Amino acid sequence: TERTLVLIKPDGVARKFVGEILGRVERKGLDIVALKLLTVSEEDATAHYAEHAEKSFFPELLGFITSGPLVAAVLEGPRAIAAFRQIAGGTDPVAKAVPGTIRADLALDGQQNLVHGSDSPESAAREIAIWFPELG
Ligand code: ATP
Repeated sequence: TERTLVLIKPDGVARKFVGEILGRVERKGLDIVALKLLTVSEEDATAHYAEHAEKSFFPELLGFITSGPLVAAVLEGPRAIAAFRQIAGGTDPVAKAVPGTIRADLALDGQQNLVHGSDSPESAAREIAIWFPELG
């Protein structure tokens, strides 16, 4: 079994898709082992997106992710990392995500794309420590 860190980004909360997205997670069969609503600090958001710090879109990404409440969750199950990324769809909701995925079905924008999911076991461990230090 495996754990992954998932975010329902501020656009997902603002558009009232928390139930829709968690419903898809539950229908997939993943377990929700931790869950909270919070507005992230600039410090934690910068740590989370450290790999993008030099990108041109980083300031806008930081502004977006800190713009309002989001939902952070730890999901668990066999191949949880790949399983969540499968149901999320590709980063660009139009160019990459396949119909039937969260992003293809519910989003248009390459930045405001509703969800985040860890991309490797190392990322998951790093991100869970940022968002859920209490699980350490
Ligand atoms: P996430 O890390 O949120 O799951 P991802 O792994 O699919 O997304 P990354 O390439 O790691 O995609 O980008 C992280 C996030 O940064 C994207 O989900 C999106 O919100 C934003 N982003 C990525 N590329 C761009 C871009 N070219 N312009 C604006 N925002 C972008």
